[in-house]
Amino acid sequence: MSLRAVILDWAGTTVDFGCQAPVNVLQRLFDEEHVPIRGSEARHSMGRLKRDQIRDILALPRVAEAWASRHGRLPGEEDVAWLSARFGPLQQDAVAVYSGVIAGVPEAVARMRGRGLKIGSTTGYTRPMLNAVMARAAAEGYAPDASVTPEEAGAGRPLPFMCYQNAILLQAYPLESFVKIGDTAADMEEGRNAGMWTIGVTLTGNEVGLEKAAADRLSSSELAARVARARERLLAAGAHAVVESVAQVDAALDEVERWQRNGMKPGK
Ligand SMILES: [Mg+2]
Repeated sequence: MSLRAVILDWAGTTVDFGCQAPVNVLQRLFDEEHVPIRGSEARHSMGRLKRDQIRDILALPRVAEAWASRHGRLPGEEDVAWLSARFGPLQQDAVAVYSGVIAGVPEAVARMRGRGLKIGSTTGYTRPMLNAVMARAAAEGYAPDASVTPEEAGAGRPLPFMCYQNAILLQAYPLESFVKIGDTAADMEEGRNAGMWTIGVTLTGNEVGLEKAAADRLSSSELAARVARARERLLAAGAHAVVESVAQVDAALDEVERWQRNGMKPGK
């Protein structure tokens, strides 16, 4: 059996080098509540449905304490709902600014199609947010065959249902012939939970967490250290293989196909 499909993440994987859009919006969102959060806090739980991510950020001890000292009580579910509702409109503005297609992605996707793979996608964005991202991506040469958002599948990552919905839309099976490619631990868990192969992305993603210009300014040893840390985190989250960018994923796909020919399965 050969590979049938890849399921690609959006921010930090195919668009938005460094996963800047959601970080920028989350920081503005908390600024408006007069509880500023750090970049590292905004990157916490990235890749999950935004409402779930916001709940996780509010639960960070420093953030919960800062919220309590500003608002006179610990954050609760009504605050999660309020912040989630505010996220959407702010995100619509940021999407156009940050969601450029990552260099080399359209060419890499063309090579995937050349080897017979269908192209699906999942995200932590809602459909209106993703539509704005997809419009710009299509104009820049990247358009997957299918896309699914958390509300369309009943739940976001790390649950596998968006991957199942992609399989239906792509009319492809079995899921052990699929590869999930993404930049967060939640992506790796989603792929594993769906019974798929998983490939983590470091340099362009949330774990390294730098926009292209900032990554280019780092010394090569500092950048290599950040990429190595990201690689360790993604492997610990269940990645079968790790690459720096989707633009360089070909050799990892070759390797997964070799494993598959040798009778290996992706496991849980
Ligand atoms: Mg991502």
